[in-house]
Amino acid sequence: MGDLNRYFSAHEYFDRREYDLFKKGKLPIRILDPKLLEGDMMLRERYGSITINDWFWGGQYHESGFRAYDCPTGAKYSDHRFGKASDKKFNNVTMEEVWADIQDHESLFRNMNFYTVEKKSLTPTWFHSSVGRYAGQSKIHFVGL
Ligand SMILES: [Zn+2]
Repeated sequence: MGDLNRYFSAHEYFDRREYDLFKKGKLPIRILDPKLLEGDMMLRERYGSITINDWFWGGQYHESGFRAYDCPTGAKYSDHRFGKASDKKFNNVTMEEVWADIQDHESLFRNMNFYTVEKKSLTPTWFHSSVGRYAGQSKIHFVGL
């Protein structure tokens, strides 16, 4: 049981510094878009175990959820910086299986609030999805080649 919802805890979306701020009440949890958390929960129910950040348990990932303004990783205005994106590593299915599933069930993924997804060529071992969208957008925007 996570402290955000059935599956996820705040440290899976924050790095150590932001997690400490969150625990001290200095970083509101609303910085994480609830649509992202809901969508990630649906992915967890569809595919089983997911790793986002795992630094809390001694792992290597600490920039896969929210990224603060001074995080050196990624684009300056990445949806990660607005609490709208996460990079998910699936532990029970391959990325090939996930990509095939997306091709076959795009509307399902749209219903999980995923509006921007980085293509496999950009993200070979993880799944970047974002709830960020532009006005009027109704289809998933696949970023990359
Ligand atoms: Zn990402």
